[in-house]
Amino acid sequence: MGCVQDSIRVISPADGALLAELPDAGAAGAEEAVGRARAAAPRWAALPLSGRAEALRRFRDAVLDAPQVVETLIRESGKPRHEAEGTDVLYLCELIRFAISAARRALRPETRRPFLFMLKRTRLLRRPLGVVGVIGPWNFPILNNAADCVFPLIAGNTVVLKPSEVTPLTSLALAEIWRRAGNDPDVFQVVVGRGETGSALVDRVDGVMFTGSVATGRKVAEQAGRRLIPCVTELGGKSPLLVLAGADLERAAEAAAWSSFLHSGQACVRTERIYVEEAVAERFEAMLAERVKALRQRAPSLDAAAAQDLGSVTFARQLEVAERQLRDAVEKGARVLTGGRRAGREGLFFEPTVLAGADHSMEVMREETFGPMVPVMRVKDAEEALALANQSHLGLNATVFGPERRARALAERLESGLVIVNDVMVNYLVVEAPMGGWKASGLGVRHGWEGIRQWTKGTAITEAWPPLAPLDRFLSRRLAFPYDPKVLRLIRRATRLLYGRGWKRKLGPMP
Ligand code: NAD
Repeated sequence: MGCVQDSIRVISPADGALLAELPDAGAAGAEEAVGRARAAAPRWAALPLSGRAEALRRFRDAVLDAPQVVETLIRESGKPRHEAEGTDVLYLCELIRFAISAARRALRPETRRPFLFMLKRTRLLRRPLGVVGVIGPWNFPILNNAADCVFPLIAGNTVVLKPSEVTPLTSLALAEIWRRAGNDPDVFQVVVGRGETGSALVDRVDGVMFTGSVATGRKVAEQAGRRLIPCVTELGGKSPLLVLAGADLERAAEAAAWSSFLHSGQACVRTERIYVEEAVAERFEAMLAERVKALRQRAPSLDAAAAQDLGSVTFARQLEVAERQLRDAVEKGARVLTGGRRAGREGLFFEPTVLAGADHSMEVMREETFGPMVPVMRVKDAEEALALANQSHLGLNATVFGPERRARALAERLESGLVIVNDVMVNYLVVEAPMGGWKASGLGVRHGWEGIRQWTKGTAITEAWPPLAPLDRFLSRRLAFPYDPKVLRLIRRATRLLYGRGWKRKLGPMP
């Protein structure tokens, strides 16, 4: 009960310093925030689209003018400044740009002309759900937290964000910036808390956007299912990278290094496992190891000119996962090409690690690592690479490096929501395309105009086409009580006329 016992301690992963101690909002905090969001929802939804767009533009401009956002993000996540700006902030800006440009299409009412009731027309209206709860992970405090609020907001919903208890400070800074930008503070709120607070939010909102682990995603989806509210889940990945003979090996190795170790490997679409064709395996492994050995790992600096590629891991659990998977892989015959241990500093540092000689008996090839380690497995040909890549309970992202036509053909057979050919990870920023995982990687999408529309509910309003309303009324009345055999005969004729082969065929006797 006491605040101390319940409080959330936010620790700098780079040096263990206490950054903040915050109360867990709990169910009462979630309830209060949703209450305010519900009261604000009608006035936010009543704004014209241009008004909501303007609020988001003001927010974006204020974020770009506020150095404390990036600084807070670096401090609580341990990632290099290059990534804080080049992934989180860049993505937020791109998403707001896209949301504003695509919302008109996503939300525009449409008219559909029915085939059967051709004297009528149907208007489809899109209306917001009400209050959307966004629940985020710790790895991208902007990209998978505040940025996930943009689509529900542009669609006319108010939003309550519960960021991860591991990295809540950036979200709190953003809520403050939203308010200082002149926007209604009840439209975008942040509640800080652990899983129980998230669960209390799911119990009160009208739709949920969840990003996190498969295990929690299942719980959240079940809870949302019981309440029959929409729930989008973006969950874990075990993204394979396939290197075919004939690929540009220099480029493949450089891209594999980046996609394996961006944010110390704590990215959902990162490369989690590599399959390389036997013919080029030795050269590729050597090139990859050489690049990874050269990575500059150090405590994140606020200095934009700092020479740094890697920071610390954000969450201590990821070090334990990496160590466990490393032990298991080495026991089963994998070789450490580089890295393989915690780095000797105060914070959560683990050397970027490349394993060779991996196979599917090893946990590191099957279960998410989400840390600074990547295994390489040699395969005899592309077909074996494809079969093994698809042998996973996850299907978020995949990469193929190889000669264009072969790589493209293989890409089309991968069981994955996202695939990228001869490049890595930047497909996450192709916000024009809906992105959603296959298998246990999630349900629903982020991105694309479809990603905006999913935060609305539709109403289909059917009425007579005004010039033909009298005829429509006459025909509609014939369908109702009292049933008339003459009308049934007409229905039978019409059914054959519209759908049957040879409408002139003689009708059989009435049964
Ligand atoms: P997590 O599932 O432990 O936590 C995610 C969020 O859920 C946190 O805010 C947490 O407090 C909250 N939560 C926990 N229990 C809850 C409950 N019962 N009800 C409601 N909320 C609850 O995940 P994590 O460790 O923070 O994040 C890492 C995972 O996220 C990885 O598996 C990674 O692949 C995945 N991820 C996926 C994507 C994607 O786009 N698919 C993006 C980023 C991260």
